[in-house]
Amino acid sequence: MTDTMLAIATGRLFIGGEWRESSSGERHDVVTPATGEKIADVAWATVDDVDAAATAARASFESGVWSGLSGRERARVLLRVAALIRERAEELAQAESADVGKPILFARVVDVPTVAETFEYYAALAQTGEGALRDTTLAAFQYTVREPIGVVGALTPFNFPLILAASKIAPALAAGNSIVHKPAEDTPLSAVILAQIFADAGLPDGVYNLITGVGPALGERIVEHPEIDMVAFTGSTAVGSKVAAKAGELLKPVMVELGGNGANIVFADADIDSAVNATINAFVFNSGQFCMAGVRLLVQRELHDTFLQILSQAVPHVPIGRIDDMGTIIGPLVSQRHLDRVSGFVERAKAEGGTVVVGGERIDLDGGYYYSPTIIAGLPNDAEAVQEEVFGPVLTVQTFDTEEEAIALANSTRYGLAMGIQTSDIVKAMRVSKKLEAGLIWVNEWGKLDPTLTFGGVKNSGFGRENGPEALHHYTRTKSVVIATPAPAPEAP
Ligand code: NAD
Repeated sequence: MTDTMLAIATGRLFIGGEWRESSSGERHDVVTPATGEKIADVAWATVDDVDAAATAARASFESGVWSGLSGRERARVLLRVAALIRERAEELAQAESADVGKPILFARVVDVPTVAETFEYYAALAQTGEGALRDTTLAAFQYTVREPIGVVGALTPFNFPLILAASKIAPALAAGNSIVHKPAEDTPLSAVILAQIFADAGLPDGVYNLITGVGPALGERIVEHPEIDMVAFTGSTAVGSKVAAKAGELLKPVMVELGGNGANIVFADADIDSAVNATINAFVFNSGQFCMAGVRLLVQRELHDTFLQILSQAVPHVPIGRIDDMGTIIGPLVSQRHLDRVSGFVERAKAEGGTVVVGGERIDLDGGYYYSPTIIAGLPNDAEAVQEEVFGPVLTVQTFDTEEEAIALANSTRYGLAMGIQTSDIVKAMRVSKKLEAGLIWVNEWGKLDPTLTFGGVKNSGFGRENGPEALHHYTRTKSVVIATPAPAPEAP
């Protein structure tokens, strides 16, 4: 981490355009999962700080300093944000890598560029200013416009702190909203830098407000705060269902992007090299801490033994190691608590009859929270590791005979976020994708994403959509205006 970054990352709260300490004065250590050592500390907010952030956001919204600008004017600021992200790319990548335990390769080539592209994309969409003028039978001129919702409370998770903050903040700002953002407590650093970037880009004071601190207390206050008009949440299904319930009680618009447990269907006609690559990417990317991971491998029976053998030989060669080594593909898990959770899933899977074919161990490296990529075969479909989201580099393997059986197995959990199909028959891929209960299907690969490409869950993976014009629409509401155009009174004869 650079000195500048460290200085900023001894972070404070960003409220109303000012850096402030928490009202309690409390600060909290940030450790890197790569070694368990402290790398920074941040202000630990109180609910009073949330109130101050909400008040600042509301005042900025009502003043029109941002909400009252044209889309083109907002786009200029968003483009400056993107340019500053590119200028400070290495600093952001270092912060994200150290904070999350993400290999620097991915922070550099995936996370930071995606965030810049997201702001560029929504800068373009900000200028589209869609409305409607419809043909009616009313004796009236009428039009429908889209308006910002107001103050958006954004709650984001630990696994892609920058990308998932950008996927909410960029469309919300493009639409003219003000924001109170709370990143995950384990990974607040990149948001601190982002807050400074917003200020440097000329985003008016109070439009973006950053709160760092404990999830439940602050998150609940954000959800229920009367000055916060909408909640955009990404995180676990357990917390998301509480957030959605509270928002429902308050009749507050909410979008919840939740957990996943994706199936990856490998048909016997798949290209084996491509399918093995897709399968490995699907479960090791971001150390398996990927909501769209493909962690349930379903292989057609005639290919099963060959495929499992090739996969088991390949997986131990995926480089696992220090996060600052550009050759590292798998880094540590985010925390000791999460490492214990993942290893608990594997231990219970063994007790449920699973056979660990590869991995299944903690890795001792620099005191970091490393877990080996793990393949478990022989589990029944109702086993916990098959049905639940492990959120680590753990793959379960099952077989199927027919297309119908593959579809039934793929749809047999409560989640439905991303799924994959490996086959050389494109018609079969299209037929099967139609039947899969998920918001995103990858065919003959795993993991390609783009800010223009909409994704989101079905079933317990949540509702709402991120990316694409769909996300922009979430942060607006329509208003129709009807202007009477009475027929002129008949002229006197
Ligand atoms: P989490 O649910 O623990 O936390 C998410 C956010 O909510 C954090 O900012 C947290 O501090 C806050 N929070 C915690 N308790 C809260 C409460 N009671 N009320 C309001 N906010 C609260 O999730 P996590 O462990 O940070 O992230 C991992 C989870 O996120 C996984 O389940 C993963 O699948 C999911 N995820 C989903 C997507 C998606 O797009 N669907 C993307 C990434 C991650």
